Amino acid sequence: MGDRTILHCDCNGFYASVECILRPELKNVPMAVCGDPDSRHGIILAKNELAKRCHVQTAETIWQAKRKCPELTLVPPHHEQYQKYSRIVNLIYQQYTDLVEPFGIDESWLDITGSEKLFGDGRTIADTLRRRIREEVGLTISVGVSFNKVFAKLGSDYKKPDATTVIDREHFRGLVWKLPVSDLLFVGKSVGTELQKMAITTIGELAAADRDWLVRRLGKIGETLHDYANGLDNSPVRSIYEEREVKSVGNGMTFKRNLVGLEDIRLGVLSLTDQVGARLRRRGVQCLTVQVTIRDPNFKTISRQRTLESPTSLAKELAEISLDIIQHEWDLRKPIRMLTITANNLVTAEETGEQMTLFNGESRLRKKEKQEKLEAALDSIRGKYGKEAIGAAGILGNDIGIGFLPEDKEENS
Ligand SMILES: [Mg+2]
Repeated sequence: MGDRTILHCDCNGFYASVECILRPELKNVPMAVCGDPDSRHGIILAKNELAKRCHVQTAETIWQAKRKCPELTLVPPHHEQYQKYSRIVNLIYQQYTDLVEPFGIDESWLDITGSEKLFGDGRTIADTLRRRIREEVGLTISVGVSFNKVFAKLGSDYKKPDATTVIDREHFRGLVWKLPVSDLLFVGKSVGTELQKMAITTIGELAAADRDWLVRRLGKIGETLHDYANGLDNSPVRSIYEEREVKSVGNGMTFKRNLVGLEDIRLGVLSLTDQVGARLRRRGVQCLTVQVTIRDPNFKTISRQRTLESPTSLAKELAEISLDIIQHEWDLRKPIRMLTITANNLVTAEETGEQMTLFNGESRLRKKEKQEKLEAALDSIRGKYGKEAIGAAGILGNDIGIGFLPEDKEENS
């Protein structure tokens, strides 16, 4: 079988670029998209070229950024717009192949092996996509072209913005092996630290390292990374039509009596999110969207969802967001018969590892890590003593029927 041709397309400075399309005047001033513009502690999520020139960095606080660049224009994120532009870009990719696998909101892999006769070789298609997306959408992308997904991803990072990098089988060693090992897919913080202790700093050193030693030190991932470094990655690009394994984790309940008022609702929400969080963590996934469905005694049903600034699997965060949605969307005096909370838009921990640091900033990240430890401890107690061993605070002694929840039901909608 011949080699595959795989593209990895990455939108450059995605959030900031979309903002500049929406408000073209932003192109002429240093600007940044940030979490909470009213707070000094808000975090920079993205910045444009002019802000980059003032050394404004992603993940630093607004306060730090403003010190370097006092005239920095701050813009709140517009997640629906980012989703919309993501869809538009992916629709263009799909004109060249069915095998389009999005990886986060602004990156996708394309397997164009079967399309080269129609549209030209890898570089040609990459250049065509760059031109079309620049001209038709107003965004720039950088594209990596290679014989596997891992090197294609390296390629899109290699040169940007608006560039094509080809990493072919004949020349990959010269290009890839001198890169830092942290550039390799799935080398997150903990693996990176471990590799550092082993004095492995480049991908070439990883490729040359003894395989058994890597497995002894890193476990199974050691084998995978050794393969990756040597260009041995056969993982397929999934079709956009293919169903994701699990799309959502939801938990719903009809209560013994209707919930009325904030305290009732809080109790209901806590018991639901407690389980949703535990199930997300058991699967090693986090969600980017939380959906709340409310049904009243007359079966009138509303459903609202919100996209998060950063993915989570924490019951505490899921509960806070759900309560906030309910307080905005529901008259708290009206009775609730049934409540469902669903975590949508699931991503794996590896996929979010980098973004986590990026979106949270140091202090929020530490707080989050503390909560993660706490909830992991709860998970292990539940594992030992059963699901009813611990509930969220205040669940015991209620009269709405929670505490003995029905078995988890998996939703593959
Ligand atoms: Mg990007």
